[in-house]
Amino acid sequence: MGLSLIVLLLATVLVSCTKQYIARDEAETFRNVIVLVPDGCGFAHMTAARWYKDAPLTQDSMEVSMVRTFSANSAITGSAAAATAFATGYKTWEDSDRTKCLSILPDEIIIPVRQKIAAGDQWRPAATVLEGARLAGKAVGLVATCYMSHATPAAFASHWHSRDDTGIIMEQMVYQGADVVFGGGFSYLIESDSMIPGSAQKGTRRDGENLYEVLLSRGYEVITTEDELLRLTSDKEKVWGMFAARHMVHDIDRRLFGPAQPSLAEMTRKAIEILGKDPDGFFLLVEASQVDWASHDNDLVGVVTDYLVFDNAVKVAVDFAKSQPTGRTLVLVFPDHDCGGLAMGDSGIDYLSFRPEKMLDVIKRTDLTADGIAMKLKTEGGGIDTERIKEIIERHCGIDDLTSEELKSIEGTLRDTANGYLNEIIGPILSRRAGVGWTTFGHTGNDVPMFSHGLERSPKVIDNTQIARLCAEGLGFELDEVTDRLFVDARHLFDGAAVTFDTSGVHKSMGQLVVERDRKRATFPFFKNIMIIEKDTVSLEGLTVYSLKADKVFLPAQARRLFEAF
Ligand SMILES: [Zn+2]
Repeated sequence: MGLSLIVLLLATVLVSCTKQYIARDEAETFRNVIVLVPDGCGFAHMTAARWYKDAPLTQDSMEVSMVRTFSANSAITGSAAAATAFATGYKTWEDSDRTKCLSILPDEIIIPVRQKIAAGDQWRPAATVLEGARLAGKAVGLVATCYMSHATPAAFASHWHSRDDTGIIMEQMVYQGADVVFGGGFSYLIESDSMIPGSAQKGTRRDGENLYEVLLSRGYEVITTEDELLRLTSDKEKVWGMFAARHMVHDIDRRLFGPAQPSLAEMTRKAIEILGKDPDGFFLLVEASQVDWASHDNDLVGVVTDYLVFDNAVKVAVDFAKSQPTGRTLVLVFPDHDCGGLAMGDSGIDYLSFRPEKMLDVIKRTDLTADGIAMKLKTEGGGIDTERIKEIIERHCGIDDLTSEELKSIEGTLRDTANGYLNEIIGPILSRRAGVGWTTFGHTGNDVPMFSHGLERSPKVIDNTQIARLCAEGLGFELDEVTDRLFVDARHLFDGAAVTFDTSGVHKSMGQLVVERDRKRATFPFFKNIMIIEKDTVSLEGLTVYSLKADKVFLPAQARRLFEAF
């Protein structure tokens, strides 16, 4: 009830074309939906990538729409709020001090107009397209190059008011039951005093759980290298690929810093191969996570090279869609938000004589991203030896004319990180020489494009929340119905039973709901999809989510029938 009220309110204040694209009777339905997100970029990033590719991008032959990206509290969104919008269809709150919601509603929205969320829905989890697709019997998958508990993939598979609590988020991602998960983040599966299998690094969990073992016990094949990925036979149905302890590295940095990591295109191809065998169809999210980080570094080299491997992944998806009967597969390509405020051109240059070769030369001469060069300088820089720094920059960027200012800031930052962030010094050194300009090291509130393949009528200018509804309607379900099925307040669910919860260990990803009636006692551990009753463990169709902000536990309505039937 409450949720539909918000939809109504939002629909009236937002762009007027909502109804045109989400009315159920008009909706086009698809067996498969593939969403591909180049994180943190805009039009100029694509322009630069196309110049470098020297050929059309895959997206160039797709339909184009425009997307507004503001969050519940800012005209410039963060990644968690952005991903929540296109995963759930709802704007949420994300700022530096109050909260950074992932697929959970806020208590109020202040943009574009101030509006209180109905009391029962404040801080309530909102169902995601991935959860709806899973309930509809489809195979579901997540592919990214960040750690999987990072904003975009996490928003599709977990619910929490703070995107930074990786332990809580990763546990939900494991118990969410996705069929394919490829990306980084192995350390978040392993306890802090245990080693990550096959690595010399320790895990980071503080709840005593080994989620790697949980995955194995749930029938997953867990792989860690490109070779294993390429060797996966197509009879595999459930696979987790954990290709890095934390994030994977930028595409061109793999050669030096992640030689066993697969490319985004390889992960996308394998994911589609596995998910595509489900006769009910599939939903897949693919994120090129690090275009955003290159943008945060104002690093044109990272932007262009990561965008082009993303372009390969888009081609894999579109080729698959084209290999299917018309109207079976919807492919949507859109950034979550713009980042860096990149422009082709910069103040101080003669724009009438901007030759692309000048920009392309800088990229061609560089064989690592700003992040890769920073890593190189930190590990090989020989303290603050000026000659060594010059040599490394010349070897990896072909730059032999570093100014004394530039050298001084590199040295200063190597000596003392308080002087700055090394990536943000290297990135601008490259970009300045390429003739491109940036307005910020943060995100911007610019609209972003959305490219689509498969829609009969592509939308014009839409709000990012409408993307979630486009996906859900396309797959044949209503997100609000999924929310009402998956996230019921435990205190209203169990008739005449004593409902209590233990939240003391919640920051370590522990805690549980206890339901007692007569002699029957069931516990529902937080962030998992199970009910433990007597000596049995019963699977639920969704997660038990504790909402700390609301101090409520939400779980599938189905839990009541399972409890009563036992
Ligand atoms: Zn970002």
